[in-house]
Amino acid sequence: MACNIVVSTGAGISAESGIHTYRDADGLWTKHDPMEVSHIQGWIKNPQKVLDFKNAQRRLSTEGEYRPNAAHLALTRLQAEWRWGDVMIVTQNIDGLHAAAGSRVLAIHGSIAEKFCTACGHVSPFDADIVLTDPCRSCGKPATTRPHVVMFGEMPFHLDQVEGALRRCGIFAAIGTSDEVAPANQFVQRVRSSETYRINLASLTAGGGWYRHQRIGRATVEVPRWVDELLALRDEPVIPENRGIG
Ligand code: NAD
Repeated sequence: MACNIVVSTGAGISAESGIHTYRDADGLWTKHDPMEVSHIQGWIKNPQKVLDFKNAQRRLSTEGEYRPNAAHLALTRLQAEWRWGDVMIVTQNIDGLHAAAGSRVLAIHGSIAEKFCTACGHVSPFDADIVLTDPCRSCGKPATTRPHVVMFGEMPFHLDQVEGALRRCGIFAAIGTSDEVAPANQFVQRVRSSETYRINLASLTAGGGWYRHQRIGRATVEVPRWVDELLALRDEPVIPENRGIG
């Protein structure tokens, strides 16, 4: 019987690559109102304000020359070397650093490197500022292009695949996420096995009971250590189901 792994990552895994998280003391939400710049209702009310924020975020992410760090690279190694089943990496991040590290990844909130047309669905590289009134390069309609990222109030991508993987996995880990954003903060509740890990700078008190193991520390230290431990296992782990999930 296979022992599959699902790893769910959030902004904290990229913090040591220099990309700000949202909710930490220096995070983006201390400077911007998420309802205005990252909510679908904000887009409907004032798309220019959303575009100003997303254009600036894209410029930072492409011009900042951010690189994958030791945590991203350790997960790539886990995906390549884990002998006992599949390793699925699911991320809320839009920064592309898992792919840059060579991992296969499901980016449930999309990518800051792409834009799409709400009229024809055409996806293209987000490689220069989006101008609100510009026509779509594919269908020609004006004012329909937006970043290919999921805003609050919208349905994330790939959730069917993630749900199936969670139900089949033997080991689950949530890395660098505040567990405040649904549905990713509920993934741990969908896991049938008992081996659930949380790796984060800060411990979670409310809701922490879903995690059997909490490892407190920097992702660049704790993730490679966790991966080394898993890859050192000589035998396939036998993990009992202990959840009564229907
Ligand atoms: P969040 O900002 O809510 O929480 C970040 C978490 O990371 C916190 O729990 C914090 O304790 C932890 N953390 C910070 N530095 C860490 C480190 N060095 N090592 C380990 N843990 C660390 O982020 P979230 O939970 O991912 O929130 C989800 C939203 O944030 C999503 O909508 C996502 O799209 C967005 N986001 C993405 C990026 C990115 O792509 N890099 C950056 C900021 C926000």
